[in-house]
Amino acid sequence: MKLFTVGPVEMYPETLQTASQQLPYFRTPEFSKIMYENKKMFQESIHAVKDSETIFLTASGTGAMEAGLINCFTAGDRLLVINGGSFGNRFAQICAVHHIPYEEVSLARGEVLTAEKLEKFDGTKYTGLLVNLHETSTGQLYDIKMLAEYCKKNHLYFVVDAISAYGADELDFDKYGIDVLIVSSQKALALSPGISMVEISKRIYEERVIGIQPETLYFDFKAYISDMERGQTPFTPAVGTILELHQRLEQIQEEGMEKIRENVRDMAKRFRRELVNRGFRIPIYTLSNALTPVILEPYAKNMYERLKQEYGLVVTPNGGDLADVLIRVGHLGNVSWEDYEELICSMEQIKVTL
Ligand SMILES: *Cc1c(COP(=O)(O)O)cnc(C)c1O
Repeated sequence: MKLFTVGPVEMYPETLQTASQQLPYFRTPEFSKIMYENKKMFQESIHAVKDSETIFLTASGTGAMEAGLINCFTAGDRLLVINGGSFGNRFAQICAVHHIPYEEVSLARGEVLTAEKLEKFDGTKYTGLLVNLHETSTGQLYDIKMLAEYCKKNHLYFVVDAISAYGADELDFDKYGIDVLIVSSQKALALSPGISMVEISKRIYEERVIGIQPETLYFDFKAYISDMERGQTPFTPAVGTILELHQRLEQIQEEGMEKIRENVRDMAKRFRRELVNRGFRIPIYTLSNALTPVILEPYAKNMYERLKQEYGLVVTPNGGDLADVLIRVGHLGNVSWEDYEELICSMEQIKVTL
């Protein structure tokens, strides 16, 4: 089996080696040191150098999205949610569950998010904007510069779910004035699921987090921030994933985040060029480097099944409306150009029989 998914993805040998070890006990100075280093290396990787805080949550990405919202917003807020697919919809669902007022900027299938589209929401009645920088269900990458400027102009807190953009697309916490940034272990980091990082700005920490008492024990950020002062978490973290993270962040530091992103981008570009040359169709909106959606209407589901069963190649299927429309081919983790050549050949062989 070879994974061309977005998470979990093909893991690196060093990660697998780390994952095979006996876990240590974690209430120790040695483990605290790992946590401090993780914080420092993670912040460097997103370019957060101005007094922001990192929260290491033992939760999948959705847990971190939910925790981020309930620690920063209340029923007194009014949020704008960019909804261009299932992850945008998830932000809206979280707001609804927690009675945080919100309005959706809904995109039709294939529609691009433009500054004009946001214009009609201009004004002062909103307090924050929520976006999945890369809407993983469609592959669309939103324009972070445009969104950052919009937030600045309208005095909105800027909440960025970068779970599938981290490690693939440009991301800069300080430069874009991000207030809440969410990353998860199983995507570009290519680790086991279980750990999500939430980076919060000094501004939102002081203006919001300190004063809000969310109705949750496990997800209360104040406890995470005070425990992190001694390199600890309030509850048992996914110790193994924390150790994998440490190993991977060291590797990222060595190689350079910029270089890693370039490699992902080059692989995505080359794959897309080859696909188009061989008569496959891809969407025309701006794509994240993390994955390539291939339009195979109405055979997408069939293609996914046959690639898996006949060739042992696992691409990412779509759910809901897009199930028969798109397959998504991931460019994250330990995959090589030879793997993509094999995938394209297999897709061609199946295509002629459809
Ligand atoms: C994968 C992903 C998530 C997290 O999903 P979980 O299944 O909860 O880990 C959230 N947002 C985006 C954009 C994603 O790609």
